[in-house]
Amino acid sequence: MSERAAFYAEDEDVAQIREAVAALCQDFPGEYWRAKDRIREYPSEFVQALTDAGYLAALIPEEYGGSGLGISVAGAILEEVQKAGCNGGACHAQMYTMGTILRHGNDKQKSEWLPAIAKGDLRLQAFAVTEPTSGTDTLALRTTAELKGDHYVVNGQKVWTSRAEHSDLMLLLARTTPRDQIERKTDGLSVFVVDMREALGNGLTIKPIRAMINHATTEVFFDDMKIPVENLIGEQDKGFRYILDGMNAERILIAYECIGDARWFIDKATKYACEREVFGGPIGKNQGIQFPIARAYAESEAANLMVQKAAAMFEAGEKCAPEANMAKLIASEAAWHAADMCLQTHGGFGFAEEYDIERKFRETRLYQVAPISTNLILAYLGEHVLGLPRSY
Ligand SMILES: Cc1cc2nc3c(=O)[nH]c(=O)nc-3n(C[C@H](O)[C@H](O)[C@H](O)COP(=O)(O)OP(=O)(O)OC[C@H]3O[C@@H](n4cnc5c(N)ncnc54)[C@H](O)[C@@H]3O)c2cc1C
Repeated sequence: MSERAAFYAEDEDVAQIREAVAALCQDFPGEYWRAKDRIREYPSEFVQALTDAGYLAALIPEEYGGSGLGISVAGAILEEVQKAGCNGGACHAQMYTMGTILRHGNDKQKSEWLPAIAKGDLRLQAFAVTEPTSGTDTLALRTTAELKGDHYVVNGQKVWTSRAEHSDLMLLLARTTPRDQIERKTDGLSVFVVDMREALGNGLTIKPIRAMINHATTEVFFDDMKIPVENLIGEQDKGFRYILDGMNAERILIAYECIGDARWFIDKATKYACEREVFGGPIGKNQGIQFPIARAYAESEAANLMVQKAAAMFEAGEKCAPEANMAKLIASEAAWHAADMCLQTHGGFGFAEEYDIERKFRETRLYQVAPISTNLILAYLGEHVLGLPRSY
């Protein structure tokens, strides 16, 4: 195998992990997800099975009880989950939110939280950044954390805080110094770990948001909620860069999920196009059906190369923000195009719940909006890679 081909090849261990994940997912077929989706219920059994198998601790170093695997393996796990028709969005954040503690926490914080997260005894999969008034403009967020003695007092509101009801800990970004008192506009925000088991009912209120997909997403309200000073991560006022630091991992992992989604749609469409007979033959012999499937396949394979490149650079410790952003951008679009193609291939049956297409179609649409919307990725590439004038 050439050096270039070897770069993209996975070793046998990863192939085995992929097989094991796919086998686990067989216990959670379409009926399971449909039933959950219908009543917007959290897929606890699925999340527990992934936790018990250790997959959600893939990125936690072995010294803290995790598997210490690279992002390409964690990504392969999530890709298989999506490719099997399941929804990793229920728990993918348990894999990567801990990265902020791992990279910026002190020894006490790491030894207190990481082993429990690795075991699944503690869930850290709530990430409270977005606010209703500031949206994508994170530096304009209004939630404040004021230092008073041995604790911070938090007031404000977050929106779209997913999985908050199914998490023990929450990573919170809040303003600790007013905007008009900071020198650098990226200063003044701090990151905290909130123990929601203590905070619920003591200044923290969670309200579910019924959304287009079953994503356990919520609004959270802080009313004089106290956080002990020892739960501040890193330095006060430097939190924005800690959050930025975790974004490449999140983008790469979600890009892997999108590749898994694309593969699910392409596989489903291919089978149906071969089986469904209209006008005396399989619909797949018509180029109007066959070519969109082939195009979706080509697009997803190209996107996959970008995802693998971003993952390889991340694992090598190289700067990879453009690649991580491009991977997420292109993979989310490949998944969406495959979803649209799959629905069209199925004609009317694509709308029937029992085919799972309409559910996956809704679910994969999210990734062009969250965790970062397409326009903001394009603005990043325009400004930081191409040197175009800042657009906002
Ligand atoms: C189901 C779901 C789950 C989520 N989970 C979480 C979570 O767990 N934690 C969390 O913190 N957040 C979460 N989010 C929030 C998500 O990250 C934001 O919705 C997303 O970043 C966009 O922010 P916004 O919705 O406020 O859009 P806005 O910032 O209001 O933007 C609206 C539109 O305008 C565009 N736009 C804005 N500014 C510009 C500009 N300068 N140039 C060009 N276009 C622009 C945007 O791209 C977007 O298309 C979630 C969202 C959803 C829907």
